[in-house]
Amino acid sequence: MPEYKAPLRDMRFLVDEVFDYASTYSQIGASDATPDMVSAILEEGAKFCEQVLAPLNRSGDEEGAVWNEGVVTTPKGFKEAFAQYVEGGWNGLSADTNYGGQGLPHSLGLIISEMVGSANTSWGMYPGLTQGAMSAIHAHGSEEQKQTYLTRLTEGTWTGTMCLTEPHCGTDLGIIKTRAVPQADGSYAISGTKIFISAGEHDMSQNIIHLVLAKLPDAPAGTKGISLFIVPKFNVNADGSLGDRNGVSCGSIEHKMGIKASATCVMNFDEAKGFLIGEANKGLNCMFTMMNHARLGTGMQGLCNGEASYQGAVRYAHDRLQMRALTGPKAPDKPADPIIVHPDVRRMLLTMKAFNEGNRALAYFTAQLLDLSHSPDADEAAAAENLLGFLTPICKAFMTDTGLEVTSLGMQVFGGHGYIREWGMEQLMRDCRIAPIYEGTNGIQALDLLGRKVLGSQGKLLAGFTKIVHKFCEAQAEHPQLKAQIAELAKLNRQWGELTQRIGMAAMKNPDEVGAASVDYLMYSGYVVLAYFWARMGVVAQAQLEAGSDDADFYQAKLATGEFYFRRLLPRASAHLAAADAGSDCLMRLSAEQFF
Ligand SMILES: Cc1cc2nc3c(=O)[nH]c(=O)nc-3n(C[C@H](O)[C@H](O)[C@H](O)COP(=O)(O)OP(=O)(O)OC[C@H]3O[C@@H](n4cnc5c(N)ncnc54)[C@H](O)[C@@H]3O)c2cc1C
Repeated sequence: MPEYKAPLRDMRFLVDEVFDYASTYSQIGASDATPDMVSAILEEGAKFCEQVLAPLNRSGDEEGAVWNEGVVTTPKGFKEAFAQYVEGGWNGLSADTNYGGQGLPHSLGLIISEMVGSANTSWGMYPGLTQGAMSAIHAHGSEEQKQTYLTRLTEGTWTGTMCLTEPHCGTDLGIIKTRAVPQADGSYAISGTKIFISAGEHDMSQNIIHLVLAKLPDAPAGTKGISLFIVPKFNVNADGSLGDRNGVSCGSIEHKMGIKASATCVMNFDEAKGFLIGEANKGLNCMFTMMNHARLGTGMQGLCNGEASYQGAVRYAHDRLQMRALTGPKAPDKPADPIIVHPDVRRMLLTMKAFNEGNRALAYFTAQLLDLSHSPDADEAAAAENLLGFLTPICKAFMTDTGLEVTSLGMQVFGGHGYIREWGMEQLMRDCRIAPIYEGTNGIQALDLLGRKVLGSQGKLLAGFTKIVHKFCEAQAEHPQLKAQIAELAKLNRQWGELTQRIGMAAMKNPDEVGAASVDYLMYSGYVVLAYFWARMGVVAQAQLEAGSDDADFYQAKLATGEFYFRRLLPRASAHLAAADAGSDCLMRLSAEQFF
């Protein structure tokens, strides 16, 4: 397994130099999060992830989660690591102080989650799902529900799940069959089967709080008839202590390609006692709170596995000796040169590095918006919320598709050794493969971006972002070193709006045009978004070099990677633009029967 080292230098570059988190923190009243404190938290988080979680990654994959008669046992060391995580206060880092949290900014929590996921993606699923449950209860639960459940979830003695999927539906939640029948005491009897439930059953916490989508007997058809319920594994007594076992059990767990240590459970609800969260029939809205959080978290899994893969690949490329450099021996004292001398190996490493660092910038910017969406200034909060809604599907889909490409390249750098288990590179690719699928497939993210967010807002949400890019390009148009990049970014930014208009016009005549263009539209958007962040990082790096920074290697590498991104990866945007423009005809011409 590649040894994981948290990329603290790159993290600090974004936090301090590019995005100036400190200003945002004082703006939102999080003045406790001083730069010194942030730095200390990142260092402690890095230690925990490198020393406790990373060593359990390989063994967790080999042992997997084990089901026996409804009881799920996590791999050796998982439970103890979770106890240490809770003890260290990590679970409640960004949680509300009114319910036992530390109230630190969400962006800080996201950086810690990057370290957790890079060290051990499977393990990170358990606290990850809990964070999602916490945000839904926080946003929509009653005060009593917050006191009863949120406090224990924050403290980490209980964990959470998100129960949406059923055997016959994952994307189309409007057709769920799970039923909720009102009871005389104000609770509901929940019955049905949910599948693929991450962390549905395990041995890491005293209680598991399931957030379950179900339908009331008189509910309207479709998504307008879905309600959200809290269903605890153990009922909770009036004094908060654990009562008898509720009617929910784990029927089995899945045997799967990756994230083997994360228990993926079939959950059977048999008249289980449940409690409505928020309003009846508004469950999907409540779940969206959890899903936005979870979608950013899932996008991070692309970066996490990509980062771990890059770290393994770059070390291997320095050590592995094969053939001589085309320009003559670089290590004449050795029987061959290290493979890092070969242009094609560099192409792979730089592609990995450019996607990882670009995706990290996108994620940290989005996390900053998450902080700003809680700003006391209502206009600022609303603007941040809009941008957040726009960028979330891009984070989820672009970061996981490119993250998967990165893990594949990491394996390629190792040649045949990447394909065998010993080096751990194939595990990273297997673990990453689920990320484009769950939390709404990437195809669904693309429809969300183009259909709901962009066209649904008559282009307003897109304009919110393209204006930022436009202003940046105007300000930097004459940048002495980066003006070619800035001009390219400005051109693509303009084309983004034009492409959107063309698709919008075509969709008025034929609704299939949206579905036909959506994935290429999302990928085009992702490449332009990353170009914006690479240009921003370039401007900062150039300024640091000119100011005589004593960390010249870091800034030179940043500029060179940015240039690689613009010259070798950004041209892909034009291919996506052409494909998005190609229309639905060539997709819809064959009849279903003609797909032999
Ligand atoms: C390891 C793992 C963990 C999971 N964890 C959880 C969890 O904790 N909680 C939970 O509730 N679920 C969980 N899931 C379920 C996951 O979210 C779903 O599998 C996913 O949303 C897709 O649903 P589906 O599998 O039913 O596929 P389907 O909905 O049947 O989709 C099949 C294909 O059709 C495409 N498709 C469907 N509708 C459309 C459309 N309108 N337009 C274009 N394309 C469309 C999809 O993109 C996909 O490619 C997990 C799944 C796995 C494998």
